[in-house]
Amino acid sequence: MSAPNSSFDPVEVTPLHPEQVQIAVDDALAAVAAADDLEVLKEVRLAHAGDRSPLALANREIGALPPQARAEAGQRIGAARSQVRAALEARQETLHRQRDARVLVEERVDVTAPWDVRPRGARHPLTTLQDRIADLFIGMGYEVAEGPEVEAEWFNFDALNMPPAHPAREMTDTFFIDSPDSGVVMRTHTSPVQVRTMLTETPPICVICPGRTFRTDELDATHTPVFSQVEGLVVDRGITMAHLKGTLDHFASAMFGEGIGTRLRPSYFPFTEPSAELDLECFVCRGDSVGNPDRPCRTCSSEGWIEWGGCGMVNPKVLIACGIDPDQFSGFAFGMGIERTLMFRHGVEDMRDMVEGDVRFTVPFGLEV
Ligand SMILES: [Zn+2]
Repeated sequence: MSAPNSSFDPVEVTPLHPEQVQIAVDDALAAVAAADDLEVLKEVRLAHAGDRSPLALANREIGALPPQARAEAGQRIGAARSQVRAALEARQETLHRQRDARVLVEERVDVTAPWDVRPRGARHPLTTLQDRIADLFIGMGYEVAEGPEVEAEWFNFDALNMPPAHPAREMTDTFFIDSPDSGVVMRTHTSPVQVRTMLTETPPICVICPGRTFRTDELDATHTPVFSQVEGLVVDRGITMAHLKGTLDHFASAMFGEGIGTRLRPSYFPFTEPSAELDLECFVCRGDSVGNPDRPCRTCSSEGWIEWGGCGMVNPKVLIACGIDPDQFSGFAFGMGIERTLMFRHGVEDMRDMVEGDVRFTVPFGLEV
């Protein structure tokens, strides 16, 4: 490297010419001012303050100047670079602030927004009601008995004093598995569970049998081919209809309100003798609509009573079929439709609502405590 030329005039070196320096500074400041985000500013910094920027190149030229010229040139270039750096820093701070403010707005978390928007379902009201009924009877010392939904004809009919010619055994009522002579049916009531209980246990017997049952009905507002029943059975020494009536009165009060009236209306079932229909005092009009055309009642058709279920004293033939001596023991049995109970209890008017699976029907019942 040759010695510095002492007659060299620094202002003659183009990059160090004050005008050129000023142009470089002006360009840099204009670029800094125009940078509208941090990415752009990064490029501006590289172009105007980086190693290959005009001012950096000018700075490198200082070393080639004669010693007496270096101080002045160094000061000038130094001041110019400081000015550009200061502008860059100021701009960077501004852009940082703007970005932070924008992030705060754009990425704001609304802590009041619902965090879990998945729709919640609820237990089906038929299940809830079935459990409620089971609880009531468990409280009176009953046990809950269960049995298969696909059942042998003998348990479903024969043992219950329904001989082969009985109308209930016609195909119009019963779902047969495979063919009518297969001997296997979808149970048409929960009574076969009573038979199974009497065959395996010895009196005293106190059971309720809730469960699904099947009949070849069309689905409409008041029928469904799959429905639920709860049946009760008590077998012991000295059981009478008074026990039956007292039990059903308690059951009715628990379901429809304290003091609701009941009545037994003579009827016929093959598996009970004597048999009765259990009527409930209309819980809407409490009988006020009877003979009172000014206050008609849709629930009971102004009759004052509505039919709830069937009951009676267990037919001795059923006891014998189940290996229980009717001379020593007697029993009562009753059966209610759970859908029908739900319709009465909650004013459900269409049975299809219970089977269509629409959660808008189910959810309000989930709030019941
Ligand atoms: Zn009524």
